[in-house]
Amino acid sequence: MNIHEYQAKEILKSYNVAVPEGIAAFSTEDAVKAAEQLQDKGAGLFVVKAQIHAGGRGKGRTKSSGAKGVILAKSVDEVREAADSLLGDTLVTLQTGEAGKKVERLYVTEGVEIKQEYYVGVTLDRTRNQNVIMVSTEGGVEIEKVAEETPEKIVKEWVEPGLPLQGNQARHLAFALGLSGDQFKQAAKFIMALYKAFEATDASIIEINPLALTGDDEIVALDAKINFDDNALYRQPDIAKLRDESEEDPLELEATASDLNYIKLDGNVGCMVNGAGLAMATMDMIKLAGGEPANFLDVGGGANVDTVRNGFRIILKDPNVETILINIFGGIVRCDRVANGIIEAVKDEEIAKKLEDIPIIVRLQGTNAEEGKAIIDKSGLNVISAVLLKEAAEEVTNVLKAD
Ligand code: GDP
Ligand code: MN
Repeated sequence: MNIHEYQAKEILKSYNVAVPEGIAAFSTEDAVKAAEQLQDKGAGLFVVKAQIHAGGRGKGRTKSSGAKGVILAKSVDEVREAADSLLGDTLVTLQTGEAGKKVERLYVTEGVEIKQEYYVGVTLDRTRNQNVIMVSTEGGVEIEKVAEETPEKIVKEWVEPGLPLQGNQARHLAFALGLSGDQFKQAAKFIMALYKAFEATDASIIEINPLALTGDDEIVALDAKINFDDNALYRQPDIAKLRDESEEDPLELEATASDLNYIKLDGNVGCMVNGAGLAMATMDMIKLAGGEPANFLDVGGGANVDTVRNGFRIILKDPNVETILINIFGGIVRCDRVANGIIEAVKDEEIAKKLEDIPIIVRLQGTNAEEGKAIIDKSGLNVISAVLLKEAAEEVTNVLKAD
């Protein structure tokens, strides 16, 4: 799960990670009030930041007003102008795609003078089975680019599972940033606190880009991105509450509510499969056959009438879908039962109507596969049955060609 920058910074602050003062705003009046409050605390410069679940805001532009997603403001009036230009507009950045994201929340922060920008990230290194902390002197730019072009400029420390981050590791990282004296101490402390926050919140990624050395020689996080491990959210109720559903794909939300594992993709072939591995293999076969998967959908081991029906409903809401490939392996679940389940689900009026123009290809394999195929063939429905995955994929090609 993803959260907004202002939420991430509030969490980090509670773990003693240094962040500039800031206040979230949902309207221009909110933003003005926030700026006045920050001014009372001594702020003379402000930053108005669009809160969307995507980075690259500083270089992004809104569609109507052409405003940047991160605006420096020198006065409360400029904060008002910036808020007006952002709220309700759609921000397009390298990470949002062309559609962009609507700006509904802002974060107004005290602006600082930047002497130097750095990068700090924490994530799980799956090849080592250890958490890794990465720092770079190349902050404020795309870290993926640094990793590709000048990987030696990223310095890493891996944390021994079961142990906390060691002080000497944090100091090594702070040293790698070229810092000394008080700034070195601040950076080491910052990294220790950041790692504590990472562990305690079951985060999967924390990225601070940029970490800044300010004009007052303070080390602070100017940006913060946190992703959480969805599988751990059950034990992080306060974090789970921060979910912003307006940032998520509506079909994926509906699927989650029906206990289906669905991920929307951009292709034209809907697929419904039992088991994540088989679903991946099915997507590969669709591609080999010249189609593009419209989604990943794992209906789980059961594949009963309800899951198939919910699966159809969600797949059919995607206007790009031209055909649907159902690939079920009957292990514990018997293929004849699955076949009957499909026929039953297709009787649903809404589903039946949409399926008039969308051929379904069903491939059943495993226990009672032949019985299952016979049931499908006899049903008189607009369903093509196949035994081998290869055949099923070829049928996908035929259907797409017939268009
Ligand atoms: P992103 O573009 O979505 O990653 O948003 P950031 O929060 O990283 O902001 C983009 C850029 O704005 C940063 O890289 C900084 O250069 C600049 N910026 C952000 N906050 C401040 C600030 O307080 N003062 C100054 N001078 N620049 C800032
Ligand atoms: Mn950033």
